Amino acid sequence: MVGLRAKGYRLTPQRLAVLRALVESPHHPSVEQIYGQVRLEHPMISQATVYRTVETLKEMTEVLELEFSGASNRYDGRRAEPHPHLVCRGCGSIQDLELPALVREATEVAERAGYELLGHRLDFYGLCPRCRGR
Ligand SMILES: [Zn+2]
Ligand SMILES: [Zn+2]
Repeated sequence: MVGLRAKGYRLTPQRLAVLRALVESPHHPSVEQIYGQVRLEHPMISQATVYRTVETLKEMTEVLELEFSGASNRYDGRRAEPHPHLVCRGCGSIQDLELPALVREATEVAERAGYELLGHRLDFYGLCPRCRGR
């Protein structure tokens, strides 16, 4: 957050609350979920403000955006660099997957193919333990 101020970003209490909700959640929340949480503390905040704040943070590469066709985008405010995810098809929960060797190998193969890598998207789909139990 200190880095944001250094980049000239004005951290109003509302923006700070959005940022905090993102950084504190391990659940890769959607804008709607962030709005629901921030509204508890800042009842006057609008969903448009939350959306704009998230957009700005994304442009400043402070959050990672995960797009899904037919569903809300989700955001990781804990790790802004691309990383693999495990996605539940049942409830939509998302968690980080630690696959450093796989990512390193893919990066090497891409570079050998002459690519300058700009990012990656690596999702694994399934049913989480809770959804399997239903
Ligand atoms: Zn699930
Ligand atoms: Zn993540």
